[in-house]
Amino acid sequence: MTTTTTPPPLAAHPVAVALDGVTRTYRSRAGDVHALRGITHTFARGSFTAVMGPSGSGKSTLLQVAAGLDRPTTGQVAIGGQPLGRLGETALTRLRRTSMAFVFQAYNLLDALSAFDNVALPARLAGARVDRAGVMDALRQVGLEDRARRRPPELSGGQQQRVAIARALYARPEVLFADEPTGALDRASGRQVLELMRSAADDRGQTVVMVTHDPLAASYAHSVLFLADGMVVGRLDRADATRIAETMSELER
Ligand code: ADP
Ligand code: MG
Repeated sequence: MTTTTTPPPLAAHPVAVALDGVTRTYRSRAGDVHALRGITHTFARGSFTAVMGPSGSGKSTLLQVAAGLDRPTTGQVAIGGQPLGRLGETALTRLRRTSMAFVFQAYNLLDALSAFDNVALPARLAGARVDRAGVMDALRQVGLEDRARRRPPELSGGQQQRVAIARALYARPEVLFADEPTGALDRASGRQVLELMRSAADDRGQTVVMVTHDPLAASYAHSVLFLADGMVVGRLDRADATRIAETMSELER
């Protein structure tokens, strides 16, 4: 079913992302893979959540489904109170462009565009006016204001990931989804990125959902959600890296 109803503004809703009984099964000739086996969780507006779990536990699938990039096999996802299942592809794409930003393991930058134009691209795609100072400010926040005219192939991996973060910051999304955003960064750049994501939640009320393997990275989040075999198996609030690492090893036993 396709509707053209404009979604209500997300800021009006206290729950940024809600998953209700979400499953995702990949069907292949070798058999079905149950990547998500029934996830029910709400991500409050202004919360910063880290998602952790062993490789193959469903973290990336959870992010893709929560962001409406993939559809659940069963169950419901709602963004800002708007059930995604009722939206057609066009409305879903519009909601993503206006309300969400993504930072992935692979940087997903366009090699033909400068850092500046990569940061400005989502706004251009959403039909918004690009303000030069705003783009430069986002690049400054990640320490790349002097690299604005460089194209991604002329930047290091860490710098490319910071361009991807600047793009997400400039878009001022209601919800920021990040999959291992600091995986390729040196310690200092990683910390800078984590602090930016934390202040997006604390100072601007944005909602951040971040997949990570790293307990130190996860300790920047307000809470940590542990996945195993497509299910939520634990949760910690306001925990430090040591506690998170201990919980991970307990869950892996
Ligand atoms: P994680 O990010 O925690 O490593 P994923 O969400 O990528 O886990 O994968 C969860 C499970 O689903 C794994 O068993 C993986 O092999 C499988 N899977 C992921 N994507 C696909 C796909 N496109 N087709 C088939 N199986 C997939
Ligand atoms: Mg993954």
